[in-house]
Amino acid sequence: MQADDSDGSVLTCRNFVAGTWQDSAGPGIERTNPATGKVVAVAPRATASEVDAAVRAAGDAFRTWRRTVPAERAAHLHRLGEACAGRVDDLATAITREQGKPLDEARGEVRKFIAALHYYAEEATRVYGRTIPNDTPGFTSIVEKEPLGVVAGIVPWNYPIELVGWKLAGAVAAGCTIVIKPSEYTPGCAQVLSECLARTLPPGVANIVFGDGSTGQALVAHPHVAKVGFTGSLATGQALYRAVTGVTGLSLELGGSCPMIVTGSADVAGAVQGATRRAFRNAGQICIAINRIYVHDSVYDAFVEGLATAADALTVADGLANPAADVGSLTMDETYRRTLDHIADADKRGARIVAGGGPLEGPGLFLRPTVIADAPDDALVMTEETFGPAVGVARFTELTDAIDRANRVPGGLAAYAYTNDTRETFALAGELDFGNVAINNVDAGIINAPYGGRRESGFGSEHGPEGLESYLQLKHVRLRHGA
Ligand code: NAD
Repeated sequence: MQADDSDGSVLTCRNFVAGTWQDSAGPGIERTNPATGKVVAVAPRATASEVDAAVRAAGDAFRTWRRTVPAERAAHLHRLGEACAGRVDDLATAITREQGKPLDEARGEVRKFIAALHYYAEEATRVYGRTIPNDTPGFTSIVEKEPLGVVAGIVPWNYPIELVGWKLAGAVAAGCTIVIKPSEYTPGCAQVLSECLARTLPPGVANIVFGDGSTGQALVAHPHVAKVGFTGSLATGQALYRAVTGVTGLSLELGGSCPMIVTGSADVAGAVQGATRRAFRNAGQICIAINRIYVHDSVYDAFVEGLATAADALTVADGLANPAADVGSLTMDETYRRTLDHIADADKRGARIVAGGGPLEGPGLFLRPTVIADAPDDALVMTEETFGPAVGVARFTELTDAIDRANRVPGGLAAYAYTNDTRETFALAGELDFGNVAINNVDAGIINAPYGGRRESGFGSEHGPEGLESYLQLKHVRLRHGA
């Protein structure tokens, strides 16, 4: 083991099952701070039998949790939100130390997680069935909504707390119980969360098993799991599709290469500001990050110059030492190397690197925010998910051509556009083939509206009432009352 991170102690994670922390027989995982290389968390790699124990604990808890009234579930979720509000800095510090995003940004993530808990606490009380008149007198049909059962929540490392929240809050509000498998890159913040769960939810309602893909595989294939809620890469999503037993519900929130279109009528300064935020926040490691930008010829030069200037002005730094930094360390070697590959590929194809272009000097996985102008359509940055702080920019003259190019990728998660023309606005809203389209803003996901992808970005919705409904099943009760 390398030296501990000097900023704090090493977090020791233990599986959280039936309200208590359990030792694991599995070999451990060590997580290092990507900004310093020092060990910050150790976690077990839960074995199949430990996963089985967690699923059984969730199954036992489900027998009583499913019968609680919505107001009681709401009260528990509000209490969990309050408990987490008292630990914002602990949760955020754990995120920054293992994920790399600046501390202020991590605090923002935790606050959004808490907002999701409170939102679904309220939404729990707004689940209604319906009655259906029958053809025969003396009968009534009642349609009830019932919780599915035990949910497996598998989450990635880029928003390690917020993404747990979407699954945890929706499932628990619906009356389901859950087993969460955090990413092996971000176990520490889940350990802090388990301390909040222990104080606020009945034992077994929310459980956490630590581990990598092998632990995740055991969890999703468990026969007592009623639904798998997955957020992560396309490759893992496809593996899950094959691994679930066939009668298990499944939602897949996968990646994508998200486009932005800036038309000739757009507010260029606003578009530059939006692109800067959505291409480089969280070091570009966002499923809805802007990866490629198509800009009308008439505003192209002004936009490229503005974006390059804005990218160069961002502060890249260790997010613990400088909590207000704009861009922290990347989380893992894989995204670091892929970003450099995409930059090199574009360079080789004749694109112009007008900002950034490489690593910061010194230790850690730091890359300078990179703007690639005149990126050809077949460059990797314009065709694949980079998941790092690099964005490609290309020209267009006809809006239909820009929309075609924007749609020409296998995924369909989010798309962005800036325009001040009504006809263009409706053309963009109607023709961009993505699950989320944001126009004249870059915040494509809000907690009370459905959020999900199309095509290779997966299926199923989180957020909004739909995010709760996805943990419910219908029951038709046909009642002969004789009246
Ligand atoms: P990943 O697919 O490598 O891992 C995600 C989770 O799946 C981890 O917890 C991992 O341990 C687990 N896992 C790996 N193999 C498994 C298996 N065979 N069975 C079960 N579980 C397994 O993804 P990542 O690198 O952690 O995250 C980055 C990806 O997530 C990007 O592609 C990004 O676009 C996507 N993402 C999507 C959304 C969204 O809302 N659509 C949000 C965030 C991230």
